[in-house]
Amino acid sequence: MKRIYLDHAATTPVDKRVAKEMRDFELEYFGNPSSVHREGQEARARIDFARAQVAEFIAAKPQEIIFTSGATESNNLAIQGVVNHAVQKLKIKPHVVTTRLEHHSVYNLVKDLEKRGVIEATFVKPSSDGMIQTSDVIKAVKKNTALVSVIFVSNEIGSILPVREIGKALSAEGRTPRPLFHVDAAQALKFLNCNVEKLNCDLLTLSAHKIYGPKGIGALYVKTGVKMQNLMLGGSQEYGRRPGTQNTAGIIGFAKAIELLGTLEARQKGAGKIIKLRDKLIHELLKIPGLELNGPQGGNRTANNVSITISGIDQDSIMTALDLAGIAASTGSACVSGSSEPSHVIEALGKVRGKNSSTLRLTLGKATTDSEIKQAVKIIAEAIKTLRQ
Ligand code: PMP
Repeated sequence: MKRIYLDHAATTPVDKRVAKEMRDFELEYFGNPSSVHREGQEARARIDFARAQVAEFIAAKPQEIIFTSGATESNNLAIQGVVNHAVQKLKIKPHVVTTRLEHHSVYNLVKDLEKRGVIEATFVKPSSDGMIQTSDVIKAVKKNTALVSVIFVSNEIGSILPVREIGKALSAEGRTPRPLFHVDAAQALKFLNCNVEKLNCDLLTLSAHKIYGPKGIGALYVKTGVKMQNLMLGGSQEYGRRPGTQNTAGIIGFAKAIELLGTLEARQKGAGKIIKLRDKLIHELLKIPGLELNGPQGGNRTANNVSITISGIDQDSIMTALDLAGIAASTGSACVSGSSEPSHVIEALGKVRGKNSSTLRLTLGKATTDSEIKQAVKIIAEAIKTLRQ
């Protein structure tokens, strides 16, 4: 049975050209990029080139790119880094504004810091269709707000949040210094413009495995002049912000994946093709009784996301049935898969999910075909019918 992979928000398959670039690099450049000898310096030159490619893609300077192990670490470095600086150096109890649509690596971290009394926090609530209003974010800002952290594209329900508008509005407030603005762009890089000047952000999170690159490598853009503490102590790699010998092959693969994304026009063209399939999938699924779309419709929804709530079926049953029938899907976020707990994002939409209802997230990729979508609709409809009987 040919599998249908519809979980590209959890991770994407590595592009063959990325894998080749990494393998070739790894076999030839084994030196430690911090070593002063030729082997080290050759590896160093390659990662410097990769850093410049990543930087150029988001209109940053190379020295503003800090390679990390992925978006989870980047989010932790951004938030803990800014908070710990405020607590230890500025001697204040900082306030953090974020949203109820964040990925766990932001949401759970801010909740934990709040619970431990390290920070004050405001979680901005979305509308029932999963959008956040810029004015609600700005209204939440207080005198001691050190950081505003907003997800660009929801990994669960696909909302595209108005981060550009939020960045602008934070500056327009005229507060000096303005609170630092962090954007988690892990799901956005594939389709949207992540130019940091246009976003008006100070910190931006990226991850390679969402864009057909390898797992375990990501980056945090840190605008020149931003003061923050490190997560770990050690050597002076990554401009002193992230110690440890770099994942050199990962960095090379990350840069190649970025190169393959191409221009903004190319990405938008790719998104257009996926949007057609996404809308077809939504249209067909909503013909099944008892199904409801989560997240916004139309232009505010990311190209590849379909999230639906299904009544009358529990989470585990639908996931198992679909997997056995050849579909790789997800509950809401890969991080809560396997747990029957409703996600904080679905809860925030005000849809109380009873024991006997489930959330299904289907996320399309560049290789998804029309016949796969047709086949997926058939399989899902049959699975729902059988499970409801
Ligand atoms: N933020 C968002 C928006 C994500 O979708 C993910 C991955 N699900 C992460 C952060 C964490 O990324 P990583 O797996 O690279 O740690």
